[in-house]
Amino acid sequence: MSYTPPNTGNKIIIVGGGCFGLSTAYALSLKNMYDIYVYDRQEIPAPDAASCDINKIVRMDYANDTLYMHLTVEAFHMWHQWNKERAESNLSPVFHQSGVLLLSGKDQFSDFEKSCMKTIREAGYGHYITEYKSSQEIIEAFPQFKNAVENGFNTAYLNKAGGWCNSSEAVKHIYNKCVENGVHFILGQENGCLENLEYDPASPDTVVGIKTKDKKIHYADRVVLATGSWTAGLVEMHKQVVASGQQVIHFDAPPDAGLRKSWENLPVWCGDLSNTGYYGFPINADGRMKIGKHSSGYLNPRELDGVSVPRTQVTHTTDTVPIGALREFRQFLGKFLPETSALDVSCGRVCWYSDSIDGDFVISPHPDYKNLIVATGDSGHGLKFIPIIGFKIRDIIEGIDTQYSRAWKWRNMETQDTKLDGLRADALLQRLILDEPNNEAARMATIDEFKASRPRL
Ligand SMILES: Cc1cc2nc3c(=O)[nH]c(=O)nc-3n(C[C@H](O)[C@H](O)[C@H](O)COP(=O)(O)OP(=O)(O)OC[C@H]3O[C@@H](n4cnc5c(N)ncnc54)[C@H](O)[C@@H]3O)c2cc1C
Repeated sequence: MSYTPPNTGNKIIIVGGGCFGLSTAYALSLKNMYDIYVYDRQEIPAPDAASCDINKIVRMDYANDTLYMHLTVEAFHMWHQWNKERAESNLSPVFHQSGVLLLSGKDQFSDFEKSCMKTIREAGYGHYITEYKSSQEIIEAFPQFKNAVENGFNTAYLNKAGGWCNSSEAVKHIYNKCVENGVHFILGQENGCLENLEYDPASPDTVVGIKTKDKKIHYADRVVLATGSWTAGLVEMHKQVVASGQQVIHFDAPPDAGLRKSWENLPVWCGDLSNTGYYGFPINADGRMKIGKHSSGYLNPRELDGVSVPRTQVTHTTDTVPIGALREFRQFLGKFLPETSALDVSCGRVCWYSDSIDGDFVISPHPDYKNLIVATGDSGHGLKFIPIIGFKIRDIIEGIDTQYSRAWKWRNMETQDTKLDGLRADALLQRLILDEPNNEAARMATIDEFKASRPRL
């Protein structure tokens, strides 16, 4: 299907007001050429969007993938600029340059960390890296990780350029910029929610707009689907992306505990990421510490056609995380941050990636339909790019050939072609089903099971 870029004065509908959609709307608005409408099924930030969260990692450590490393470096500049803008308006910073500490073990770096350091140094950014020469050096720099080091996570480097962002605040920040620039927002379960795409009756492969849940049709010259993990449930994606549910838990450290002080000063950490999947954050201003697992995740196949669709706490209000995942968190943390064993898990959430087969985004004209662009396939690493991804998506909408348009083009991949490594690649082929009746480990954990007083789960 050939693609024609939009003309001056054209109306562009963006469905999805998360990271990809808002960043795109903002970048397009700067051109003052288009009439831009963003539709979302919820107020922004949508509570169950992947981008709605207390924090996300902003890291440039991408093994040997220089595309995302350079893109992160570009994003760093904008994160600092956003902090500056916010300081001028007396707003708290959105980006916190805490550093990212990548631990692995035993006694040597895993391939992922080796490859990250090599690539970063070769690109001339070696000054960001502090490599620790011994267990003792790690403990001296980060006494909070003494147990982790003694339990085998005894090699580490710190990337000082990285850190974390307050992702919900970042979403609000760019949303406000869009509003200032005249982007129109239509938000709500009925009037903002895409029910289906609208096609030209005379040419059924031509998209002419969208129909929302209230049955109204909204015509447009181009439609951009930036609906994150919901995308494959809305348009035929030919299995190029799949909604995968990923586990996150929080601990609330008691205000008077020494833990709170020491965990405030943590860098973002990754505990042998490519082999365990676990990562975590310093305690935030509300005393909350988040720990997540980056893995193949869970599927939630819908009855109609088996396509995995997000199942979130907006519709399933009592959902937590699968009990099997909770057991694994407790087991890992028992070695890595054993102080957490005495704490209740204060909340748990399954958050959804739009997972592509190779981990690259899928941002491209749709191969089956005219006038439709998809901007999805975030694969769990898109939020760090919120200040700049929209500029790259704008190029794709405008038909400009770039290294990004080439990397993210429609690819027709088979699962076995994945270039993901370790944990994520193995499990691509054998994902678990969320809440599967015959799998005890897939049922949701109860609040009682979150308690530290329940040692044997
Ligand atoms: C557990 C977890 C941890 C992560 N950690 C990191 C990290 O540390 N660093 C990092 O960079 N990235 C991270 N990510 C990835 C990051 O959150 C995503 O890359 C990013 O949020 C993707 O943005 P998006 O706009 O594609 O999707 P979303 O943010 O999910 O936005 C999609 C939007 O589409 C809307 N929508 C859906 N269906 C419809 C419809 N029918 N009609 C109208 N609107 C609709 C939704 O309401 C939502 O607002 C993580 C993701 C998860 C789940």
